[in-house]
Amino acid sequence: MSLKITLIGHATLLIEWNGLHILTDPNFSSRVLFFKRLEALRYDPAHLPKIDALLLSHAHYDHLDLFSYKYLPSDVPVFIPEGMSKAITHFVKNPVVELATWGRHTILDKLEICAVPAQHPGGRLFCRWRYPRCHGYVLTLDNESLYFAGDTAYRNDFTDLKNLFPIKTALLPAAQVYGSFYSRKRHMNIDDMIQCWSDLGSPDLIPYHWGSFFKIFNDPEKTEKVLRKKAAGDPLLAEKLHLLQNGESWIRHQIPNAV
Ligand SMILES: [Zn+2]
Repeated sequence: MSLKITLIGHATLLIEWNGLHILTDPNFSSRVLFFKRLEALRYDPAHLPKIDALLLSHAHYDHLDLFSYKYLPSDVPVFIPEGMSKAITHFVKNPVVELATWGRHTILDKLEICAVPAQHPGGRLFCRWRYPRCHGYVLTLDNESLYFAGDTAYRNDFTDLKNLFPIKTALLPAAQVYGSFYSRKRHMNIDDMIQCWSDLGSPDLIPYHWGSFFKIFNDPEKTEKVLRKKAAGDPLLAEKLHLLQNGESWIRHQIPNAV
């Protein structure tokens, strides 16, 4: 199966999988609240292909950026955690599909979208609506699964996902280089992310949530240095880690059948 992942920036990833196009947590804006993007966006959202599904993990401003929805046709379905409809429908016309944790929905008769747990307090500041839920999503197509973790702390049940789904690709947040005891209750630092990757069965790994906003947590140079050092000491991680810069893509070419 052909698979191409483009890290547009932060948690915005374009998944192109056997002709399907899925976009995660779109954010094309130059700032999140008072925090400026660390570098100019290297992907022009005007060049997005026709999107089949949009996955929204939670309502924090860096993940739910309503200004970015202008780049998406109003018929693109938005998959959201249960109870979050008004966060979308008050502002844009796109159809929403609310999923409870472990809820599943199939699009185009072939791609299954399953909402999976995330340990991360959602919510939206300065707004009368508050949306505390946060999800990751597992996509399954032709007996192969891809995991997008959204925002989450490390949990000791990632092995459950490994047992439930044939995960070949994991998109995981490297949300903090180190992370304090407090912050690790809501975000994974790099060691947590690597442990999560291992728990998932060491699939192909694409880290995100670094190098776009919040330099104090996601310093690009430190994140890259630490990740490359970890990979240098772990041959399996070195093989599976695809460390994309913003705007870069990883392509897994179709493997021809053996004759
Ligand atoms: Zn968040």
